[in-house]
This record gives sequence, structure tokens and C-alpha cells, in this order.
Amino acid sequence: MRAIEVSAHGGPEVLELVDLPVPEPRSDEVLIAVHTAGVNFIDTYLREGRYPSTPRYIPGGEGAGVVVAVGDDVVARSVGDRVAWCDGGQSYAEFTTHRAERTLPIPEGVDDAVAGSSLLRGLTAHYLLDGSAHPTAGDTILVHAGAGGVGLILTEWATARGIRVITTVSSDEKESLSRAAGAAEVLRYGDDVAERVRTLTEGRGVPVVYDGVGATTFEQSVAATAIRGTIVLFGGASGAVPPFDLQRLNPAGSLSVTRPTLAHFISDPAEFQWRADEFFTAVADGTLTVNVGQLFALEAAADAHRALESRRTVGSTALNVTA
Ligand code: NDP
Repeated sequence: MRAIEVSAHGGPEVLELVDLPVPEPRSDEVLIAVHTAGVNFIDTYLREGRYPSTPRYIPGGEGAGVVVAVGDDVVARSVGDRVAWCDGGQSYAEFTTHRAERTLPIPEGVDDAVAGSSLLRGLTAHYLLDGSAHPTAGDTILVHAGAGGVGLILTEWATARGIRVITTVSSDEKESLSRAAGAAEVLRYGDDVAERVRTLTEGRGVPVVYDGVGATTFEQSVAATAIRGTIVLFGGASGAVPPFDLQRLNPAGSLSVTRPTLAHFISDPAEFQWRADEFFTAVADGTLTVNVGQLFALEAAADAHRALESRRTVGSTALNVTA
């Protein structure tokens, strides 16, 4: 089969197209013909070695495809099932194996490309709204990178729940997309973001800030948060936040900071299924209009990483493995 391997830690050029044998499923696994492999920021952190990884390996923690074989002990999945996964794996390949119980059947009405490119971001948006923090109707929240994969889903979902969303973006095109997802106010990044957020909230600031940008936005996130509010630092697209003196949270307004990761919100099977059901239902009933922003061919995985890292993407990014 054709697959992409990370040959060494480094830039996108370390992603190599290789020929490998089709893997054999273990007794609790399914073998999947991959249709869509999600391309996520975490894939770039692992490729660089910023998060631990051991080259050579096939990257890709998210995807969708069709079950083509099942291990001896698998009863819950059958050949022909359309499934998606988002808890790790080796998705940048024509075939992959995955523990059957960690795959999710894709319901009717949900496209493979949407499931394979957006399940990880969708479940992230879900736990950000129902896990890391709990904004409710009538609240105003700040979402950085509002036109990104997580940003668009988070904005649309929050708006559907009656939450007013302020976003930050870097361009006019991204502003239009963020507004189309429901953002009430769209700001450009800068040293005055917090001041503008306070102007838009009668001086109070927002009870929740969702910050997946990190290094370049975190100080503004702190300054934009209302008394007793929560900063949810869920990523570092611009780099890691430098060491932070927790004592500062006191004069800033008795603030809370959390640094969550999806794995801890989907490790319990029932919770995983609940979050997935809510995401797939929201996609199928049109609450979420998830579009795949960019689809690259498998052999163009390096281009996909370059696009993601250089802010040239909108919404979700994925590889069309069958192209
Ligand atoms: P996005 O599609 O949001 O892409 C990142 C966006 O961040 C860019 O498009 C860009 O938007 C913005 N950005 C601002 N500064 C930079 C920079 N210096 N370099 C690159 N991008 C920058 O990515 P995802 O939706 O896949 O992920 C968003 C964040 O969420 C990432 O940090 C990711 O690691 C994190 N994440 C965390 C999870 C968790 O459980 N903790 C799970 C999933 C994702 P603009 O041009 O508008 O600034």
C-alpha cells in the first residue's frame, strides 16, 4: 500500500511517500481502507518532535474509511461498515488498523470526508463547550483563530446555543468565514484585542476565552477575561506560551487557566460515544455546516502540513487518500 512516513524529526520535507505491506488486524482490531485522513496541528507537533514521537512512523490520528477485515474477537464492527476515528493511529495510508471499540460508525447523512477531517476538531469543540468550561446562553466568549478548523465549529456550535462569539482572525477572507459561522464580532490580532473585547462587553471582559494560538495571543487572553473567568488554552499554533507566574491570576480577576487535551475527554467509551453522537447529529441536522476547507492527495501530505503551518488554511484540512 501507499503510505506516508515521518522519516526523521523536522519540517514537512521529512514526510515521505513509501510502499509498505498492508497491516494485519490483531484480534481486537479492524482493518480499514482509508478514504480521508485528517491533518491536524498535532501531526505537525509530533513530526517536529515538539510532542514525543519516534520516527519512522506513519502519522495521522484521525480518519474515516470502510472496514475491509475484522480481527477474530471483533463483534461490534463488520466488513463494509463506514467508520471514523480520532484518538491516534496511522491514518496517512491506504490501509490502517484500529481497535474496533475506538472506531465510530458514521451515520447516514454524514459524509466520509467530513467525518475524517472534522471528527477530531468537532469533539474538541464539544468538550471545550461541555467539559473544559461551560458557557451558557447569553454569555459572550472569545475564540482565537475563528476561521480555523476548531474555530469555525466552535463558533457555529456556540452560536447555536445562544452564546455570543467574538473571534480573532488574520485576513478579510477569514473574517467573512468567521462571520458566516455566526461570530457576532470579528477582530484582528493585536495588542488592543483585550481592550476591544472589554469595549464590546461593557468593560467586563468575557467569562471564557478559547485560545488555541498560544504564544502570540495568551497575554491578550488573560487581559480579556472577566473576573472569575476561565482561559482555556487548548493549543499553540503560534508556539508554546512561555512560563507564566500563577500569582498573576489573582489581580487579573481570580482567573482560572486550564490546558486540556481531547484524549482526556474521550477515553471513557460512553463519553466518547456521547460526544460523537452529539457531533454527528449536529452535522446531520445542519446545526453544524462543516465543510472541508482543503483536501490534498496522499502524496501531497507535506504541502498540507505547510499550508496548515503557514496559516493558508481555513476550516478543516485532510488528505483524500483514494484520490
Ligand atoms: P487551525 O485550522 O485553527 O489552524 C491554526 C490557525 O491558527 C491558523 O489558520 C491561523 O489562523 C492561527 N494562527 C495564529 N498564529 C499562527 C501562527 N503563528 N502559525 C500558524 N497559525 C497561526 O488549526 P486546528 O483547528 O487544527 O487547531 C487549532 C488549535 O487547536 C491548534 O493549536 C491545535 O493544536 C489545537 N487543538 C487542540 C486540541 C486539544 O484537545 N487540546 C485538539 C485539536 C486541536 P489566522 O490566520 O486567522 O490567525
